[in-house]
Amino acid sequence: MRLHKCWFCSATIYPGHGISFVRNDATMFRFCSSKCHKNFKMKRNPRKVKWTKAFRKARGKELAVDSTFDFERKRNRPVRYNRELVSAALKAIKRVDQIRAARKKAFYKKRMDAVKSMQRKAEETEIRTNISLIAPQGTADLSVEEMAQTVTRTVAERKARSTRVIASARRKAGAANMSESDSDSEAN
Ligand SMILES: [Zn+2]
Repeated sequence: MRLHKCWFCSATIYPGHGISFVRNDATMFRFCSSKCHKNFKMKRNPRKVKWTKAFRKARGKELAVDSTFDFERKRNRPVRYNRELVSAALKAIKRVDQIRAARKKAFYKKRMDAVKSMQRKAEETEIRTNISLIAPQGTADLSVEEMAQTVTRTVAERKARSTRVIASARRKAGAANMSESDSDSEAN
């Protein structure tokens, strides 16, 4: 069973699917769907159409250069059937697929890490430019660093105050318990 690749989008074409077009110079073009066939007839360049594999690879959005792709290369030398060779090839296909999947995952992760740091930078600039909208009262004319210091100081003060309040409340509660137990002992 020979699987072909769509000329336009590079999708795999299974037997009985798609359409082939043979140009008058005997070049064969295979298409996975009428969508790809129509795009070809419109003389569109697959590298300029965003949903094709060619576009994604050209833009560095997908793994393009990798040693695992060498196994897929077309070979012109015919190979004589050999049972051992076939079983070894089947094993190798599975292993190559595993390796490629892992590399694709790593590639995607690396690409997204870059996006994350870019997003963070964009958010930081947004905060810096629109800081007046979220600045605490009376700090709008300060620089971002001074503002941050003021906020840290205020938070620390509030924390100290709340700890004091909690401590005094606990003391009061403890005193009340003491008096209650006193009255209990008197009743007994
Ligand atoms: Zn296609």
